[in-house]
Amino acid sequence: MKPNTRAKPDFSYYLTQNAIKEKLVKLETDYRSVLRVKYVKKSTANGVGDKIAEFGGNANAKSYSVIIPVVTINLDGKFDEVENRKKTRLMFDFGEHGRELITVDTAFRFMETLVKAAAKEEEDDEEEDNRSNTSSAFSMQKATTDRHSFLESLKQTTFTIIPIENVNGRAMVEESKKFCERKNGRGVDVNRNFPVNFGVKEKDYDPNEEFPGPYAMSEPESKVLEKLFKDVKPHAWVNVHSGMEAIFTPYDHKNEEPKGEYPEFARKIGEEINQMHCGKRCVTGSGGKGVGYLAHGTVTDYAFDVVKVPAAFTWEIYGDTQAHFDDCFAMFNPVTKEKHDDVVESWAGAGLSFAHLMRAHPAVGERKEEDGSGSSRTALSDGGKKEEAETTFALSASPSDSVLPVNTNHDYQSLRGAGQLRTGARLRGSNKINRKGHARSQMFGARDQDIDTWKYLLLVSIFTVLYCVARRQFRAVKRYRTTRRNRDKATV
Ligand SMILES: [Zn+2]
Repeated sequence: MKPNTRAKPDFSYYLTQNAIKEKLVKLETDYRSVLRVKYVKKSTANGVGDKIAEFGGNANAKSYSVIIPVVTINLDGKFDEVENRKKTRLMFDFGEHGRELITVDTAFRFMETLVKAAAKEEEDDEEEDNRSNTSSAFSMQKATTDRHSFLESLKQTTFTIIPIENVNGRAMVEESKKFCERKNGRGVDVNRNFPVNFGVKEKDYDPNEEFPGPYAMSEPESKVLEKLFKDVKPHAWVNVHSGMEAIFTPYDHKNEEPKGEYPEFARKIGEEINQMHCGKRCVTGSGGKGVGYLAHGTVTDYAFDVVKVPAAFTWEIYGDTQAHFDDCFAMFNPVTKEKHDDVVESWAGAGLSFAHLMRAHPAVGERKEEDGSGSSRTALSDGGKKEEAETTFALSASPSDSVLPVNTNHDYQSLRGAGQLRTGARLRGSNKINRKGHARSQMFGARDQDIDTWKYLLLVSIFTVLYCVARRQFRAVKRYRTTRRNRDKATV
């Protein structure tokens, strides 16, 4: 571990809160035809502040409200809702954790590059990149060598971008110089406040890092995101964080990856972004597997599991994992202008490549035909998957064949749950076998013997499968407990 350098942001190249506000106004003034900003205000219900205090949050924040800027970009200049149904709908969230300043700077680079791509010169003039001081959208992306096709992808996309979600938490970081603060303005981690496995706490749970709030969706920041998900119905959700380099897909709350065409395609895109913009250094796959700890109540799990967003991601764009435990600014943000610019450029570029790659996602094709009722989403619903898998399970003759479907679809919400399952499976399994054994001896020699043997074998198979699954999960618990001992601060 490095010594504590007590690093602080250098605002000659990092954006201040004021610069953020000014930039938003300027962007909308200069690019009104393709970019709109909405300032969404949300306050909490009375009495929630007391509850926050009761559960260990900030006692002084009884009434609490947020104003979150939400930027919409349509490079074809069409903001009509019906028109936008035919487009790819991408939702990007930056600055969810106050201390991760680099993500907000990346948001602005991304938005500025996008709106400039709409300017006519980018269309035909290949020389533009050489003349201008900043690189063009086309030169920053790495998904295609076809300029026309790339610009067409951008025009066929509607971008919903939250450049700074945790405005109040950021204020604490910047004004009170609390560089280790990641939670919102009253001490709740918004990325633990969502109703997927909400409130489950791991052994080394630290309320300073991950206080999830008194109940799921208690925070106005969460409410704003919930409403946006409903309004936008995004094909993809990208939650941009820092603390390490990673491109995570669901799940965060369990050591498991969802199966199926949509999540598999999303993971493929993740691998491509890793290759194109992260120098293959990024950890990929599910957050629960890759980050070294399980995170419960995250927005990305909510986006995938509840909202049924076909492609849900958490991007971790920078981290110094060797930084001193108290040197938070250096742990989560680059400390030289050179590195700062490099990260911002790479990940703004990743967003651009992503827009092009997402055009090929199967959900985008399906939703083009959609009438807005969200009917194609049912294809993703748990019900559909369950039915398919249960059929496989019922038909499966050998235990090994049925491991996957069972594992995918039984609701093993948490590793803790899996622990219970392990015991339960043993008890239930042995009870059944005892009962069955007894019944079998009674029926020995009877005409139904064949049927009974078949039932017996089936029960043994079920028992074996459940035992295997439980054992696997138990091993995972052990593995994570070991890794978590080495963990410093949370990133996701
Ligand atoms: Zn974070």
